[in-house]
Amino acid sequence: MGTRGREIIGMDVDKLLEMLNKAFASEWLAYYQYWLGAKLIKGPMKDAVAAELNLHATEELSHATLLAGRIIQLGGTPALGPSDWLKLTPCKYDAPADPYVAVLLDQNIAGEQCAISTYKAMMDATKDKDMVTYNMALTILEQEVEHEEDLQSLREDLDLMVNRGAK
Ligand code: FE
Ligand code: FE
Ligand code: MG
Repeated sequence: MGTRGREIIGMDVDKLLEMLNKAFASEWLAYYQYWLGAKLIKGPMKDAVAAELNLHATEELSHATLLAGRIIQLGGTPALGPSDWLKLTPCKYDAPADPYVAVLLDQNIAGEQCAISTYKAMMDATKDKDMVTYNMALTILEQEVEHEEDLQSLREDLDLMVNRGAK
């Protein structure tokens, strides 16, 4: 890695790498949860929700790309395989075993909320210590906040449709 780039980091780089790798693992799991959910989904509004899940899958993968880039830049190694992802992630992997729209939305909302906490913590830890990681975490956090709201508003529409339609 670049020596000067490492010198300007005002915190323990190993600790930073650990944090980055945990987030990296979570992004792959989020990607897969969305990607598979979009294929299995059943119920009202499934096409609209699947389109959003697919878009989010792509965006989670782009977060993994950002994190891998930063890990490598800092001289670290991104988690080498899927068996490491479950060990490293601070978030839960919710298998889309029940394909009903509302269940998938709830699972992914919980995932986004965990992601928001992860990047908030990364920003708190790197503030005034590592501007590059701080800035990357902000970029990702902005998208996770958007994801949460996208899913919650779909969830609200689904409730309105199901509850009002029944009357
Ligand atoms: Fe993400
Ligand atoms: Fe997300
Ligand atoms: Mg979206």
